Amino acid sequence: MKKILVTGGAGFLGSHLCERLLAQGHDVLCVDNYFTGTKGNIAHLLQNPHFEVLRHDVTFPLYVEVDQIYNLACPASPVHYQHDPVQTTKVNVHGAINMLGLAKRLRARILQASTSEVYGDPEVHPQPESYWGKVNPIGIRSCYDEGKRCAETLFFDYWRQHQLEIKVMRIFNTYGPRMHPNDGRVVSNFIVQALKGEPITIYGDGTQTRSFCYVEDLIGGMIRLMESPAEFIGPVNVGNPQEMSMIELAETILTLVGGTSKIEFCPLPQDDPKQRQPDIALARQALDWAPQISLRDGLRETISYFRQICA
Ligand code: NAD
Ligand code: UDP
Ligand code: UDP
Repeated sequence: MKKILVTGGAGFLGSHLCERLLAQGHDVLCVDNYFTGTKGNIAHLLQNPHFEVLRHDVTFPLYVEVDQIYNLACPASPVHYQHDPVQTTKVNVHGAINMLGLAKRLRARILQASTSEVYGDPEVHPQPESYWGKVNPIGIRSCYDEGKRCAETLFFDYWRQHQLEIKVMRIFNTYGPRMHPNDGRVVSNFIVQALKGEPITIYGDGTQTRSFCYVEDLIGGMIRLMESPAEFIGPVNVGNPQEMSMIELAETILTLVGGTSKIEFCPLPQDDPKQRQPDIALARQALDWAPQISLRDGLRETISYFRQICA
């Protein structure tokens, strides 16, 4: 059994990852500054003697002893990563440098939670890993997109220059229990609005598309990547290729929740990607991974979570 560091471990994906690693019998060190994560997300793990939490900002150096590092620390919702964009770039760049420095000192394997946002507003559809993307370097999303791109550069340079064992995972839109009700991303917004009978806020005309992966599937792919042979480093797309428009998503959620919400059209944020769908041929072949949970099943689980916490 290993000692594993999860940065951003009190966040949405991080808390599920900590839980899964503990269930496998590992010792888990969760590092988080609670910018978007909460103590509530990990409260149920605190009784476990193999779980430890450290409040720390990864833009500052971290000296701990571990065997593996999952680097997830970074706000993921546009609302939150645009709140303090300079800090977002720092988390992505300084955070990556510190975690890579830590990995280098320990000769520990390190996985980076990268993103489909590295493809920007893509002109190639669906997006394979070989596509270099179309990203605005000076827009309001750049702190996140370019920050994550720079983090990928750092990972590959530490691999080439210091022979680090790296894994780079390009995560596509993921949803599920423990998203924060004020997270601001589309699935949590629509579900919370539908449960409260408030208008469903569609940005733009709602024809833009995304492809949504359930959190359990995603975490399975993440651990498979970490445990894959050393020579497989990625980048690898992990996501669910089932693509839909935001109008279709709103209608599906309204049907499942069964409320009285009306649809309200709001301005489209700047640089909002028009389409997104992962090409997961590489994940299938190299990790023997594909998503198993349908959107409807995943949404039902997520809705029942929000019913409890919004009650
Ligand atoms: P989240 O906002 O719920 O979690 C991020 C966590 O990082 C939070 O707990 C936050 O408090 C912590 N954090 C932020 N800045 C920090 C800092 N300076 N030091 C320490 N901790 C810090 O988001 P999430 O959806 O769980 O995303 C986790 C990771 O996965 C992020 O790196 C994100 O970019 C990536 N990702 C997520 C998605 C998705 O759809 N959920 C898609 C692509 C990539
Ligand atoms: N670092 C860290 N923990 C460690 C080792 C390094 O946080 O256990 C940080 C360190 O502060 C440094 C960064 O990681 O700024 C990069 O480390 P590296 O060894 O690559 O570079 P250097 O120390 O030579 O600048
Ligand atoms: N979106 C929306 N209503 C909302 C929140 C988001 O229509 O209340 C749209 C947003 O403009 C984008 C899509 O849903 O086109 C996905 O947004 P999200 O912030 O979840 O993820 P990202 O844009 O980072 O993929």
